[in-house]
Amino acid sequence: MNNQDLINIASEFGSPIYVYDAEKIQFQYNRLTSAFNKIENVRINYAAKALSNLSILKLFNSLGSGLDTVSIQEVKLGLKAGFEPSKIIYTPNGVSLEEIEEVTTLGVQINIDNLSILEQFGTRHPKTPVCIRINPHVMAGGNSNISVGHIDSKFGISIHQIPHLLRIVENTGMHINGIHMHTGSDILDIEVFLYASEILFETAKHFPDLDFIDFGSGFKVPYKTGDIETNIEELGEKLSEKFLGFCEEYGRELTLAFEPGKFLVSEAGKFIAKVNVIKQTTSTVFAGIDSGFNHLIRPMLYGSQHEISNISHPDGKERFYSVVGYICETDTFATNKRISEIKEGDLLSFSNAGAYCFTMASNYNSRYRPAEVLWMNGKAHLIRKREVFEDLIHNQIEIDI
Ligand SMILES: *Cc1c(COP(=O)(O)O)cnc(C)c1O
Repeated sequence: MNNQDLINIASEFGSPIYVYDAEKIQFQYNRLTSAFNKIENVRINYAAKALSNLSILKLFNSLGSGLDTVSIQEVKLGLKAGFEPSKIIYTPNGVSLEEIEEVTTLGVQINIDNLSILEQFGTRHPKTPVCIRINPHVMAGGNSNISVGHIDSKFGISIHQIPHLLRIVENTGMHINGIHMHTGSDILDIEVFLYASEILFETAKHFPDLDFIDFGSGFKVPYKTGDIETNIEELGEKLSEKFLGFCEEYGRELTLAFEPGKFLVSEAGKFIAKVNVIKQTTSTVFAGIDSGFNHLIRPMLYGSQHEISNISHPDGKERFYSVVGYICETDTFATNKRISEIKEGDLLSFSNAGAYCFTMASNYNSRYRPAEVLWMNGKAHLIRKREVFEDLIHNQIEIDI
């Protein structure tokens, strides 16, 4: 997928537009499975919330991936994309018992992350196998420090509540078949991650009928050249060794599961937008594009830095630009960024646009959400049409006023 391919896609389907490279997704998937090839049973459950287009889900299903979901709607999308219910895990936070029970009827693996729901669920459905989400309270504190933090995180059942957890399991007679953690922070230091995994192993010893241990995600991807990223190969080697050691102690080999989103799709995505206007002020040159945080909110929400390149004129002299959107409030993609000289009408490409980009898009300022294209086998496949005016109003009910 080169610049010319992206230009052709934008001219065929319009801008702004999201483009995903199937080959890159497959490459990342294979990279992860090879890193853990010493383990007999490895399950990669792609985290649907990163990018939930049905065609992307179908692609993951075809690769042999499972699916990690956080809402019943994501479960339904997964089933529609062809996933076997047994290959879907449902890891919600703060959802109702009713929704969890409804998902159970779909045959999907449930993961529960609080004691109140665990007790209610176990009392009503003691025979349904349940995975429990543990909060190991481990986070990276600077370089290689290991600090016990995240005590106030809303996710997971605290390891300090294990005695209470065990009482619930015993009283209800429920079957715990998996142990899970997902701290949500980037794995920069593998030692910190391994330390958290030790806590998970200790917890797992309390449960004799486990099928799997799920290490969640947190794989960090590079956002620019030279950026720090999780060394998957090193993690694979070290964690596999610890996992096999644990399994020996446990008495049988369990399935090792992961549920990455960003690692699998972030770098596969490009967001293409057109420059509407170059606005020179006394201090700054703004490049105003035909999009905004309604389509790509991460820079405004998290301060994330997406690399930006001018694909229409990649070889021009570099100048400094502030790239801004058309939303009528502060809407900045980048400030003082070095980009090849931009002319009005040029197309800009934003990198790392696969994960948490389209799925966070909105209609703010009554704009249409963009189209999505999957680039596969050297061809562009439209996998979502750009919205039209009807989409903005079709759920609205006009009353007589
Ligand atoms: C969001 C999420 C993931 C994926 O996280 P990434 O950083 O995108 O890899 C995995 N598991 C759970 C439970 C999540 O909520």
